[in-house]
Amino acid sequence: MEELLLAWYGASGRDLPWRRTRDPYAILVSEVMLQQTQVERVVPRYLAWLARWPTPAAHAAASAADVIREWQGLGYNRRALSLHRAAIMVAEEGWPNDLTRLPGVGPYTAAAIRNFAFSEDVLPVDVNVERVQRRTGHVFTGAAAQALMDLGATVCVARVPRCGCCPLEDVCPSRGTRDEPRRKQSPFEGSFRQRRASVLRHVAARPRPLGDCDGEAVRSLERDGLVVVEAGVVRLPA
Ligand code: SF4
Repeated sequence: MEELLLAWYGASGRDLPWRRTRDPYAILVSEVMLQQTQVERVVPRYLAWLARWPTPAAHAAASAADVIREWQGLGYNRRALSLHRAAIMVAEEGWPNDLTRLPGVGPYTAAAIRNFAFSEDVLPVDVNVERVQRRTGHVFTGAAAQALMDLGATVCVARVPRCGCCPLEDVCPSRGTRDEPRRKQSPFEGSFRQRRASVLRHVAARPRPLGDCDGEAVRSLERDGLVVVEAGVVRLPA
């Protein structure tokens, strides 16, 4: 089954910029951005990020304020600070054997770096990979990681899989079945996340008087280290 999948990937795989590198820092940046942001939105931001900070040392030397500003629009801004702290750690100590010691790096991201940067035979299992393995009943090797991600994102999609154009159609026991709809992510519009994003965007442009800001959102951002409040003024951390 894996050979069928890899043959399909060779012909139909997506050409994504982080697939053209084995640089662990570049892979880390892409994986952290992809954690909660769609591929199409990540591509230009990933390229801009690496053009500005091509190495962990360059990124580590940046201010937290610049890192937060560069992250604007990608959402879930705590990822920016975690990535910054990870770059500082790598710049000072090198890459740890246990990559989950890096801030913001869980087992999935660690497995992705080990596979895509260090060529280890580990399979990073995200929702797409989990779904394809569950439906096919097959356990794939690390060599199939990128192919599984593409199949899960474009063919073996969540609700109604496109089995008619799937390379595994003839060998898949789930062909023609579909999953029950899952509960959708709560809407961003009108949410507390949106209020936080709005405050952070204003403060990223320039410091603001606390009285002009959404106080509850400011307190939440302050707890996450994304803003500081001093003498009644809200600003980005230094
Ligand atoms: S045949 Fe259908 S269910 Fe099976 S892997 Fe392909 S798209 Fe998914």
